[in-house]
Amino acid sequence: MSRKINVAIDGYSSTGKSSLARKLASQLGYVFIDTGAMYRSVTLYFLQNGVDYDNVERVKASLQNIEISFEWNEEEQVSNTVLNGKNVDSLIRSAAVSGEVSEVSAIPEVREFLVRQQQEIAMGRGIVMDGRDIGTVVLPDAELKLFMTTDFDTRVERRFQELSIKGIEMSREEVAKNIEHRDYIDTHRAASPLYRADDAILIDNTKLTEEDQLRLTLNLARRTIEKFNENTPQE
Ligand code: C5P
Repeated sequence: MSRKINVAIDGYSSTGKSSLARKLASQLGYVFIDTGAMYRSVTLYFLQNGVDYDNVERVKASLQNIEISFEWNEEEQVSNTVLNGKNVDSLIRSAAVSGEVSEVSAIPEVREFLVRQQQEIAMGRGIVMDGRDIGTVVLPDAELKLFMTTDFDTRVERRFQELSIKGIEMSREEVAKNIEHRDYIDTHRAASPLYRADDAILIDNTKLTEEDQLRLTLNLARRTIEKFNENTPQE
């Protein structure tokens, strides 16, 4: 039987990481983990419960009350993000959460809390995980690492369209500001900032269709799985 690998996908906001990761996982028969949804869920909890981010003790105590899971929704054929028993998929995409998520993600205690869970999920392999620090911190031993980039205007347009479809009202200017703000914090924070791992394959998808990206990454994954099975004895 072919042994499974882990795939780490990192990159800036709105570069299409999650949709690619979702499709790649489905084609490989792997599980997709959207770590951005986990940071967004913690942010939603903090906002709903008035948690002061500057108060480390309060942050630590609040994290004890947070349980995040992903549940397969048979009807819609998607995986839902569940925070303390509630489907929070729409709430975590709101402007309020998007505006605060990078601040919350910069808190070391929040990162430790989520990274531990992400590493446990990936222990058995067969995971496609997307985020900002997957190839560098969460799964530094992932067999395949991808780093996605897209030019700025294309990212703004894609996120704007995505939000419009979901009925979330934000102007292009607001979307651009939010992306710029998150890029800055994600790359400048002290705790595991976003950068490309030395062994990550760079994919600039500005001119690639979603089908192109899937074809390309599926080929890379299949080649990596083959090599992994040739080189690693069965456990
Ligand atoms: O991927 P998405 O844009 O939904 O992520 C939301 C935010 O969560 C990012 O802007 C980033 O601040 C944070 N994040 C992170 N590390 C991850 C995934 C997301 O800091 N692994």
